[in-house]
Formats: sequence, C-alpha cells, structure tokens
Amino acid sequence: MTNTNQDPSGSNVETLLTTLNGLRSLRSSVTHYFRNVADGPGPKESEERSDDTTNTSETASSILENIKNQLRDLETQVGGLNPPTTTTAVINLGNTGLLSLDPSPDKLRLYHQLLDCYTWTEKVHFYSTTMNQLLLGNNPKRSVNSLAKRRRPAQFNHNVSQQQVDGMIQGINQMFQVMTLNVSRPFGNNAVVQVTLGRVLRAVVTLKGLLIEWVVVRAFNEPFLDEEGKVDLYTPSQYKVFQKVTDNANAAMLNFCSPGFSDLSVRSFFTWLHSYQSLFTDVCKRCGNHLHNHMPPTWREFRTLDPFHEECKP
Ligand SMILES: [Zn+2]
Repeated sequence: MTNTNQDPSGSNVETLLTTLNGLRSLRSSVTHYFRNVADGPGPKESEERSDDTTNTSETASSILENIKNQLRDLETQVGGLNPPTTTTAVINLGNTGLLSLDPSPDKLRLYHQLLDCYTWTEKVHFYSTTMNQLLLGNNPKRSVNSLAKRRRPAQFNHNVSQQQVDGMIQGINQMFQVMTLNVSRPFGNNAVVQVTLGRVLRAVVTLKGLLIEWVVVRAFNEPFLDEEGKVDLYTPSQYKVFQKVTDNANAAMLNFCSPGFSDLSVRSFFTWLHSYQSLFTDVCKRCGNHLHNHMPPTWREFRTLDPFHEECKP
C-alpha cells in the first residue's frame, strides 16, 4: 500500500488497488496449492489409496489452473498501470498520507479525494506560474503601473519631513504682504500655523503632514493662546461673523484638498483665506450691499474669490 502514497493520480490509485487485490488472491491460491501438496492424502482416505492420489492431483491441477488465470489477469492489470514518471512531482501529503493505511473503506475514499484535490491544486499552481511568466513578458505598463505611481503620493502626504512643511509655509508667507504665517509644533511632528491677516482676523491652521486637518478663524483682538499659554486649536470665536468664516474655511479646506497635489491645495487654501483681508470693506457681488442681516459678505467663491453674503451665495 505504500506505493499508493506516491501515486499522483486518484484514478490510477483505483487501478493499483484492484491490481494489489489480484496479487493478494494469487498469493493466497499459491499458498493453498502448497498446503494441498504438503498435506497429501488425508488419513480417512488412506484405504482407497489409488483414488486418493487421483483426487489430490486433480485438486492440485485445478488450483494450478486457477493460479494460471489469476497470474494472466494480474499481468494484464500491471500492464495497464502507468509507471510513475520523473516529471510528475511526488505529492507529499504529510500526516494525512497515513489515511491510506486506515483499513476502514469510507476513510480510504477520503484519501483518494484528498489525492485528487492535491493533484488539482498542483495543476492550478503550475498553470498560474506559467500565466505569471507570460504576463510578465507582456507588461501592461501604460494602464496599470502609471496609475499605481500616480496614486502612491496620496498615501504619504501625512508623513513628510518637517523641513518640507516649513519650506512650503515659508513660500506661502512670502506670497502675501499682509498675511503672516508662524509655524509652531506644540504636539510633536505636526505643524500648527498661526495666521494673522492684516488687522482683520487671526486663524489657527492645524496640519498633518501636508494635509490641513482643522481651521479656526477668530477676530484680530481674540487671543491665539489659551489660559495655559498653548496655541488654542479649538475654541470658536465669540463673534458670529468669524464663526461663519470658520465654517466656510473648513468647507474651503475640504474643497481644495487634493491628495495627489497637497502642495497646491495648501497654497490654494491660503490664497482663498487671504481674500478675507477686505472682509469688512467688500460689497456683496450679488446684492451690492455691505451688510445683509447685519453680516458682511462672509462667503468667498472658491475659484473667483468673489465676496457674497451667506444668503446671496450662487
Ligand atoms: Zn448679498
């Protein structure tokens, strides 16, 4: 039975099993023949000696005839077996191979199914390896790889060096005369930008890498720092105007956010915020008034930076 362990094909195992059964019955017949010859005539039949000799030889020859038939069958079956070729990989079933030693017939069926399954898996593995080699030869560069390259920077925007962030903020600081940006890092690696826009407003912009996380806009006379002397990231302005501007600034932050081009998106946001320098002197683009419901035009169009009242938004 150990031979079946190494047989790669399930159907082949069935043939092998039949052949082995044939071999077993052949050996049994041969044993029977020799026992028959060794016993000789039994004690009861010793009186009729001549008849007994005939009986013994007749039985022996009939057994021999039987053996001859069985041997012929066995040779035919052995001829039908596929010899294990060197190209076929030997499947190592590990401990599950011991299933084949279980004499219980239902367990033996399980073993054959297991062999089939392993053979199938081996084939899948072989085909996929071949397919992989073929595909590597015809690399679909233009569609797959360039897409992956373009998307990759999006994942690393939050994890950039401090120098890179400082450089970018420095660049924006030089773009605008009336707007000053101060970078501090009260919470470790991530920068907090304190923005002073003329004598109109103060804003705190929290960055995570190159992505803007949170914006708070307050009046010029409201303090940057809280009671403990730390940069106040969350307390909203006490003025309704700047609460509204804070809401719009967060909307703008989300609007300008484009993960592939974070440098540009931060620049666009600060350009947009810079347009609030004339918050109290601008007239609404739609109604032409300074005030509407006691509020100046707190909305700035993202693209044109045109001022609008909340109620006059296009
Ligand atoms: Zn208006």
